[in-house]
Amino acid sequence: RAKQHGRNNFQFYSPEINQRARERLLLENALRRALGREEFVLHYQPRVDLRTGRVIGAEALLRWRHPDLGLVPPGEFVAILEETGIIIQVGEWVLREACRQNRSWQDLGLPPVRMAVNLSARQFMQKDLAGMVGLTLAETRLAPEWLELEITEEVLLEHNAANASTLERLRDLGVHIAIDDFGTGYSSLSYLKRLPIHTLKIDQSFVRDITLDSDGAAIVSAIIAMACNLRLNVLAEGVETEAQLSFLRAQGCNEIQGYSFSYPLPAQEFERLLRDGRSMHVLQGLAGYYVN
Ligand code: C2E
Ligand code: MG
Ligand code: MG
Ligand code: MG
Repeated sequence: RAKQHGRNNFQFYSPEINQRARERLLLENALRRALGREEFVLHYQPRVDLRTGRVIGAEALLRWRHPDLGLVPPGEFVAILEETGIIIQVGEWVLREACRQNRSWQDLGLPPVRMAVNLSARQFMQKDLAGMVGLTLAETRLAPEWLELEITEEVLLEHNAANASTLERLRDLGVHIAIDDFGTGYSSLSYLKRLPIHTLKIDQSFVRDITLDSDGAAIVSAIIAMACNLRLNVLAEGVETEAQLSFLRAQGCNEIQGYSFSYPLPAQEFERLLRDGRSMHVLQGLAGYYVN
């Protein structure tokens, strides 16, 4: 029970708030221990080349395998990792694990894929990020071209010289940079010509609207046209339907990622998919496709 007086007591003591603060603290502590207990796992969602139908990439997506709660999606805990700074350590683990896994698939002789890893703004601003990435690549013996780092427009929001120089150092290493959730960040587009960006990932909210209304379709085709003119690779996220897929193909979108081809998969299942050479068959000239 909070003391009535004293420096650190809560002015507006409420059992309900107290209960929530306690739960939050429990969650934080569990997250702090999760890395050491090897409770984090990565799932891998295929990225498909729309021209060939082939799997050419993967996005590593973090999951927390909690002993009681089961498999917890990142939406439930990544924000807490960011607020507490635990994301720095966990992020290093994610990067290392994704690179290690990718290299191990290459060692097995499987078709090479580019591995995408998400970086939160907080991670991006950590000291010597590029040095850490370079070291991780060297230690896992992964060639830099097989790594793509996904950042959000948030990182580029301010005209931030430190961030620009981090991007340049990453480019010099040879890794690719993607803008995740493109179009949702309220940032100016001028960074696209100033900074070394390889890929735009169109946010799934726009992809969802493609077949909902003509404005939705107009936005997506404008992004694809702009990316094409700037010679940027463009990927549509969250592609769920055949109609979205045909639209994106017709507009010349380079890659897709979404449930229409595959959910994010545990490492073993992704490996099987690569080994079987599973691809999205694209019927030339027709607006249809089927999944093998
Ligand atoms: P994101 O990077 O934009 O990842 C795409 C999210 O969309 C993933 O959710 C993926 O499972 C989901 N998705 C893929 N295809 C479809 C589809 O067809 N329909 C729908 N409705 N959703 C689809 P997930 O795995 O729950 O991740 C959510 C977010 O958590 C990610 O969004 C990313 O911002 C963050 N996150 C995940 N892993 C990491 C990580 O290792 N580090 C950091 N910093 N953030 C991560
Ligand atoms: Mg992402
Ligand atoms: Mg996204
Ligand atoms: Mg996101």
